[in-house]
Amino acid sequence: MYPSLKRDSRFSELTNEHIQFFKSTLGDDAAVIDGVSKDATDDLEPFNRDWMKKYRGHTKLVLKPKSTEEVSKVLKYCNENKLAVVPQGGNSGLVGGSVPVFDEIVISLSRMNKIRNFDDISGILVVDGGVIMEIADNFLAEHNHLYPLDLGAKGSAQIGGNVATNAGGLRLLRYGSLHGNVLGIEAVLPDGTIFDDLSTLRKNNTGYDLKQLFIGGEGTIGIITGVSIHCAQRSKAINVAYFGLPSFEHVQRAYKEAKIQLGEILSAFELMDARSQAFVHEVTGNKRPLEGDHPFYCLIETSGSNTEHDSEKLEKFLEHVMGEEIVSDGVLAQDETQVRQLWGWREGITEAIGHFGGTYKYDLSIPIKELYSLVEETRDRLNSKGLVGDDDSYPAIAVVGYGHMGDGNLHLNVPVRKYTQEVEDAIEPWVYEWIQKRKGSISAEHGLGIAKKKYIGYQRSDTMLKLMRQTKDLYDPNGIMNPYKYI
Ligand SMILES: Cc1cc2nc3c(=O)[nH]c(=O)nc-3n(C[C@H](O)[C@H](O)[C@H](O)COP(=O)(O)OP(=O)(O)OC[C@H]3O[C@@H](n4cnc5c(N)ncnc54)[C@H](O)[C@@H]3O)c2cc1C
Repeated sequence: MYPSLKRDSRFSELTNEHIQFFKSTLGDDAAVIDGVSKDATDDLEPFNRDWMKKYRGHTKLVLKPKSTEEVSKVLKYCNENKLAVVPQGGNSGLVGGSVPVFDEIVISLSRMNKIRNFDDISGILVVDGGVIMEIADNFLAEHNHLYPLDLGAKGSAQIGGNVATNAGGLRLLRYGSLHGNVLGIEAVLPDGTIFDDLSTLRKNNTGYDLKQLFIGGEGTIGIITGVSIHCAQRSKAINVAYFGLPSFEHVQRAYKEAKIQLGEILSAFELMDARSQAFVHEVTGNKRPLEGDHPFYCLIETSGSNTEHDSEKLEKFLEHVMGEEIVSDGVLAQDETQVRQLWGWREGITEAIGHFGGTYKYDLSIPIKELYSLVEETRDRLNSKGLVGDDDSYPAIAVVGYGHMGDGNLHLNVPVRKYTQEVEDAIEPWVYEWIQKRKGSISAEHGLGIAKKKYIGYQRSDTMLKLMRQTKDLYDPNGIMNPYKYI
């Protein structure tokens, strides 16, 4: 995909001597997948390929350390021997950041999966970087708390990966971003130094907050081995409603009303267009929640501590939006199973769309008023170039829009039968120019990885880029951490 990108000759190639060092340091057969001294292609494959099947690396070695000290020994050795590495969590990232480009060593956090501590008075959880987010959330549920982040890949994404990508997800509207919720980080720097800032304090104003650099750093300055994170009390009353609406104008009115009438109990407001819901229906075969077709759908979640109070508020809201014909039709989940089923229509979109081949994915922040016009303009653009259609002669299948409406975050997706330069050239850099004109963001929550490397200049000024480069050089002077990506 990147013919002009060449392997950096500063990096050494792996030898049997390196492998011997890693085997003796990690001391466990399960900790090393060695494709240098033998053929391990099949075992290496899942680490070389990303979730979208769009990016493929050529690693010959995967290391799975079990402790921070092991990560430190491994990185120190890699740094001294100029061996490039890629930190990998659940490998659910959507910008090609978690897989190698050439033969970088994959350092997988999958065996660093201990919950270290939880304090149910303060709600502060301390975990290894490799704990899977769903496991953390299930653990927290037993203690009536919740992990402040939720997303469709929760069964595989790790907390270290969440932090490294500054993931947003479905609960951001209510619980805020990881820049606020993460209280402490333990990380290993490329020279093996352990950066121990695993604070559990809510307040700590003592100079530069260096841990913030790791949040959204995408594994370019160090490996996150431990995280301390503030978790909210789990709500007793969760309600979910799913609506059909006639236009995007109506979606905006519904959102405004939801903020006015549901106020402090509103915990999610998600947007789905008709095409996204048709994909979920086609792939899952599930019965649709509403009769008839609607151009737009939205899912509203409320969570609070008093069922009676919340239900009363939600019913009033429903009466209002139906009475004013802001929404055309709607359904309210009656029990937990229905809550999960309705969420499935939102959470299942990414997977359903990816079912037919590949997907060009754009994760954008846009002023809410103009959020959906980008989908319409992209659709018109691909139609006019004859690139999108129902039969197999067209490379693209559809243009789909959905996302975290409450956060002004649109996911513009173009599912394709196969990836082609023609489709890519029709969308990029046009889409980034569109965003730049509106002062949006070319990456709301997925990061930059390799996918958006070329386009960072649409977002960041020369001054910002220079400071980023200097920061990278300070932490990683040999450039071994996740090379070839956005920095
Ligand atoms: C179905 C689906 C739905 C999704 N929904 C959302 C969503 O709603 N919101 C959202 O923000 N994202 C979403 N994502 C993207 C993805 O799940 C998140 O970015 C997630 O946080 C990545 O975690 P991971 O452990 O899989 O990281 P990986 O994919 O393994 O890695 C991602 C990046 O972080 C780095 N990294 C990973 N672990 C570490 C570590 N311990 N230390 C340092 N660097 C590390 C990697 O090098 C890479 O650059 C979705 C993905 C899928 C497949």
